[in-house]
Amino acid sequence: MPSTQRTAIDDVIVLGGGVIGLACAQALSERGRGVRLLERGALGAATSHGNCGTLTPSHSLPLAAPGMVVTALKWMTRPDAPFYVKPRWDPALWLWLLRFASRCNQSTFERAIAPKAALLKASQDCLSALVRDRALQCEHSRDGLHYVYRDPKVFEAAQRTHALLADHGVVAQAVTGASIETDEPALKKGVAGALFFPGDGHLRPERYATELARVARLDGALIEEDVEVVSARRESGVWLLHTKDGRQFRCRELLLAAGPWAARFSRQFGLRLPIQPGKGYSITYGRPSLVPRRPMVLKERSVCVTVWADGFRLGSTMEFSGYDSVLNRARLDALERGAAEYLNEPVGPAKREEWFGWRPMTWDDLPVLGAVPGTEGLWLAVGHGMMGVSMSAATGRLMADLVTGSAPIIDPAPYRISRFG
Ligand SMILES: Cc1cc2nc3c(=O)[nH]c(=O)nc-3n(C[C@H](O)[C@H](O)[C@H](O)COP(=O)(O)OP(=O)(O)OC[C@H]3O[C@@H](n4cnc5c(N)ncnc54)[C@H](O)[C@@H]3O)c2cc1C
Repeated sequence: MPSTQRTAIDDVIVLGGGVIGLACAQALSERGRGVRLLERGALGAATSHGNCGTLTPSHSLPLAAPGMVVTALKWMTRPDAPFYVKPRWDPALWLWLLRFASRCNQSTFERAIAPKAALLKASQDCLSALVRDRALQCEHSRDGLHYVYRDPKVFEAAQRTHALLADHGVVAQAVTGASIETDEPALKKGVAGALFFPGDGHLRPERYATELARVARLDGALIEEDVEVVSARRESGVWLLHTKDGRQFRCRELLLAAGPWAARFSRQFGLRLPIQPGKGYSITYGRPSLVPRRPMVLKERSVCVTVWADGFRLGSTMEFSGYDSVLNRARLDALERGAAEYLNEPVGPAKREEWFGWRPMTWDDLPVLGAVPGTEGLWLAVGHGMMGVSMSAATGRLMADLVTGSAPIIDPAPYRISRFG
């Protein structure tokens, strides 16, 4: 439907067309709300494009774990390590890192599992229902994921830590090295063991974004690309949005889903969202002849491996270097080197894409979801960090519950902006 067929004031405008904005637009449209989504580039072409597409209740343990600060400091001395902070004067980043470091203790770590697990698990169910009921063609599968270890000591420690997940309904099964080597011939010999997460899954992220848009449009959403919103202000009870090319939009409710750009955009509302871009890389290839049957995280090297019908992707690394857009060769090469330690065929026959994305990272590893107190009609669905695809379906559902005043699918309290004080 062309935009002129809608009344001059939209019911809800969703700002941002990554998987989070699209999931929100879809869920709100399904409830009968009049939704317009504005995306400055192409749908799903930013952080939601080249990610690994894994759906991971397994990742319910927070990143801020005991011992993490020491591990991170060691990694920082190696240019190809999975974690890197570019030394530079950036008070917001150093404050973010301090807040993160202050959480690396056992009691905070254990307390932080529940809200992460709740959103990840709810999302698995919401996504399965969406794929089934709306026939999403995105190579969705829910047949588990392995964490693979080559160092027996690291494997032993991981079994102890991941036992905590059982209290949150996330199943982790320890598998011997011999058994995983038989189950997954793609692995080189010498595996110490693996953790199998039967509740995990995966999909093809770029197809998922396209499919969310298709279904949202079927439900009546107006979705526009190449529309960059430069400002938004509340005026006489409605939001007035200005775009870079001089257009104006009006809406009663504004839902910000601008991923890693949310902190910058929301400064005009007086908000200080603690979101830092956590840069990650991926390489996509044609499919090798011998591939893992399920997605894997090669743990000591933190490399994630995902396989689709006609593709194969290695992804990883967490780099805090601001909005730096350089494709760092050392980090890309480290993905292939890491994979070569574990896999018989670590790369595919043809390299199709080298990519980076900025994960929208909060220091407590949880997204910011819900209304902004004191600002009428402003909603946030931002800060999904490493888990945006995994959390997208439940985020859409929860935001639709909150905006329409329905009973929320999960307790929204842990995700409120008010937790930052
Ligand atoms: C290497 C890597 C691997 C990953 N692997 C996984 C994984 O396996 N599983 C998982 O769950 N997650 C994974 N992630 C994380 C996941 O990709 C992100 O959490 C998710 O894509 C965030 O989605 P989003 O919609 O919030 O942000 P984005 O996809 O970045 O979308 C935000 C959109 O807002 C638009 N926008 C911003 N400002 C404006 C404006 N002013 N006007 C109009 N539009 C605007 C942008 O153009 C952008 O398209 C990975 C990330 C990386 C980097």
